[in-house]
Amino acid sequence: MKPVRTRFAPSPTGYLHIGGARTALFSWAYARRHGGTFVLRIEDTDVARSTPEAVQAIIDGMNWLELTHDEGPFYQMQRMERYKEVIQQMLAAGTAYHCYTTREELDALRAEQEAKKEKPRYDGRWRPEAGKTLPTPPADVPPVIRFKNPKDGVVAWDDAVKGRIEIANAELDDLIIARADGTPTYNFCVCVDDWDMGITHVIRGDDHVNNTPRQINILAALGAEVPIYAHLSMILGDDGAKLSKRHGAVSVMQYDEDGYLPEAVINYLARLGWSHGDDEVFSRQQFVEWFGLDHITASAAQFNTEKLQWLNQHYMKQLPAAELAAKVAPRLAARGVDVAGGPSLEKAVALYVDRSNTLNVLADAVEVFYTTVTPNPELLAQHLAEEARPAIADFAAGIATVDWEIPAIAALIKETVGKHGLKMPKLAMPLRVLLTGQAQTPSVDAVIELIGREGVLAALKKNP
Ligand code: GLU
Repeated sequence: MKPVRTRFAPSPTGYLHIGGARTALFSWAYARRHGGTFVLRIEDTDVARSTPEAVQAIIDGMNWLELTHDEGPFYQMQRMERYKEVIQQMLAAGTAYHCYTTREELDALRAEQEAKKEKPRYDGRWRPEAGKTLPTPPADVPPVIRFKNPKDGVVAWDDAVKGRIEIANAELDDLIIARADGTPTYNFCVCVDDWDMGITHVIRGDDHVNNTPRQINILAALGAEVPIYAHLSMILGDDGAKLSKRHGAVSVMQYDEDGYLPEAVINYLARLGWSHGDDEVFSRQQFVEWFGLDHITASAAQFNTEKLQWLNQHYMKQLPAAELAAKVAPRLAARGVDVAGGPSLEKAVALYVDRSNTLNVLADAVEVFYTTVTPNPELLAQHLAEEARPAIADFAAGIATVDWEIPAIAALIKETVGKHGLKMPKLAMPLRVLLTGQAQTPSVDAVIELIGREGVLAALKKNP
């Protein structure tokens, strides 16, 4: 068996979006699974739309997801000489030919075919055939170069996702592989690259299925081995429509910004069109061990934001508190919140991670411990009953001397409500609001312990 070589070949016309990231992930995982090589190739021949910023955005996205490539990035624009060389070889071998048909002639041909309700296609007028006499090339028309596509038979492949696909060669006209100015065209460059780079498995979006028969014919004409193709179905948004900008966070880096962990996004993307039984939660390593082309679904995969959030929370809970705090700290700093001098951020995030499904939600939740809390008077009035006031004063006195640990604080709360004949929430609720400005918090004894004696006393002193 030949060593596996896969590639991710983005066109740098925008950021790395979710669909591209999944293609990259599957290509990467397949190479890793088989101890192969993962190549990054930048398909930048569309000069009008390709930008260096987009190349960087794609590389940033792949770095964030840790989809490391082993070779490249190779840029198609830097391989022009090679494409031209192959075109010369094809002309010499008779698998490509010059075509002098002008734009006007092509327009006329198209109009004629449309009038006859035929599919518009090049009619092969400059195609050399045995026994055919070609017109004399006009001196003033710079020729394009066309691939001499086989006329008969079918081109077929066993798509690793979609199964067998067959196209009659009669359906394919002779593709232009070099424009009149000599620049090679897209499908041709892909073939030369896949050949030169020894790609064994092409894993890509199914928007390329239509290109595949042409590419297979060109590869065959080059004497290249045809790779295995796996065309991934598209991804639909939560609402069932094709995933697009309308669905918000389609750029991978937007997920970083929104507070998702790369591990969660990887796990999520892995399940987008691939399955291993009912397994939903698995590490990158586990995915690599399980991944194969045989369990990729041919039908479209639907995005499910809730599931991604659920996975994200799972991975957040998995992180040691120090690491989680290190990820939340810059998010707080970005909002101008300084955690120095406040309670331990490690403890704060550990306390709130069960209630947060993104790092941003977690940052929102713990922010109160590092800013001055001014409880909303209405919220306070709603939770602070008259009969609880003496209990709060008593509790504050106890707080001044209690052992600073959760069980002792919990005992003090219990003792205070017992002494004042109150139900637990009558004290716990106003304490929550006074200390955090919020009626919903984790266990109040833990919140008190987190804030610290000084902070709690200061807040309770403000008790109106
Ligand atoms: N450059 C193409 C794209 O971004 C991918 C081509 C391929 O994988 O063959 O859609």
